[in-house]
Amino acid sequence: MDTKALKEKLFLTRDNLGKRLAEDEIATAFDFCEGYKTFLDNAKTEREACSYVEALAIQQGYTAFDSKKKYNAGDKVYYMNRGKSIILARFGKKCVCEGVRIVAAHVDSPRLDLKPNPLYEDSEIALFKTHYYGGIKKYQWTAIPLALHGRIFKRDGSFVDINIGEDENDPMFVVTDLLPHLAAEQMKQPLSEGIKGESLNILIGSLPFKNCDESESVKLNILNILNEKYGIVEEDFVTAELEVVPAFKAKDIGFDRSLIGSYGHDDRVCSYPAVKAIFDCEVPEYTAITVLTDKEEIGSQGNTGLKGAYLQYFIEDLAAMVGVPARDVMKKSLCLSADVNAAHDPNYPEVLERRNAAEINKGVVITKYTGARGKSDTSDASAEYMSKVINMLRDSGVAWQTGELGKIDLGGGGTVAKYIANLDIDVVDVGVPVLSMHAPWEVVSKLDVYSAYRAFTVFFEK
Ligand code: MN
Ligand code: MN
Repeated sequence: MDTKALKEKLFLTRDNLGKRLAEDEIATAFDFCEGYKTFLDNAKTEREACSYVEALAIQQGYTAFDSKKKYNAGDKVYYMNRGKSIILARFGKKCVCEGVRIVAAHVDSPRLDLKPNPLYEDSEIALFKTHYYGGIKKYQWTAIPLALHGRIFKRDGSFVDINIGEDENDPMFVVTDLLPHLAAEQMKQPLSEGIKGESLNILIGSLPFKNCDESESVKLNILNILNEKYGIVEEDFVTAELEVVPAFKAKDIGFDRSLIGSYGHDDRVCSYPAVKAIFDCEVPEYTAITVLTDKEEIGSQGNTGLKGAYLQYFIEDLAAMVGVPARDVMKKSLCLSADVNAAHDPNYPEVLERRNAAEINKGVVITKYTGARGKSDTSDASAEYMSKVINMLRDSGVAWQTGELGKIDLGGGGTVAKYIANLDIDVVDVGVPVLSMHAPWEVVSKLDVYSAYRAFTVFFEK
């Protein structure tokens, strides 16, 4: 054997998928991403993502889960949790008592949430106060077009859903920034302090109410517009969840159109493939479950996050149907925590350790552990489970690579994996590498998105 062949036999290598895939496979992947881009533009908040997926699921023949009903192999059900997280399940040929297969992704993304009492006027300009949600670099959120999404409850208990800034004819919103001419002091600040949380205030109007001599007439004018349009008064902001998100649409990036720029790839880029995979799989051996969860970006707390009990209760219901304890189902169950990881960026090569860093166009990233500084606070997947997952992908020709979330002593982060592991379920993170993660406009590779879809499909079918 010559040394070239010996190297090929012995070395771990990763080809760019553009080189490895046939033309028609690349075309299929690009085509898959057209549906993904539509999803991105229609699902910018967790509520929108859940209702969009619910509508798709109903089209696919999914019905609302009823724990008192009896289900057979191939049956399709969904469970909507408070409109902000959703579970899709397809019953398998094997009894639920043999365990289930779970792909769990999240549908919340970093953004600016309105405070409970957001509206004020200063210097005859009307603004909204915000409290940012998730990990953001605050300076990235100034001077970009913003849209307002969410739900407002009125005193009579009815609600209105708001979506302003997405339609071509809608107004948009913005957080203003200081001109460079007068920013000498600001520019001396560290990036984390140049823009303060309390200055991420949204510009929403500037005209006073007509013929009004009262104070705060600009605020009055805004409230009057909102009252005429939505029937709301200022107190109704308290009973609202309003989220300010980038108004950008998902677009192809690059002369070769190989990439997608969008808000909220983390973690719609795993959510959409997880939904498509359960829709497209044949009647699975094991009951297949796709979970789209909320609150991952703020630590998975709350009853719509995976630190909450809703997934466990769902499995308890499945177990009760076949008369076994839920713990016996969970200990035999497998899960892919479908979340993104950082892709190596040639502009910032110093933050990742190259031999263990994920790269775009190299397929799904398997992240054995997250955390940092001594694997702190992570679920470290076992060799047994790593072997099982990688063999599934290898046998089916799905491109995969490994990743870490940054150099050991540098940063870190977490996913929902540890909360699922705590249910006595085997779990590992498998997802898509992202450039500019958590920025208002993140970047992913189309071939990686399609690899995620293939990976989740194989996981459900094996
Ligand atoms: Mn994520
Ligand atoms: Mn994230």
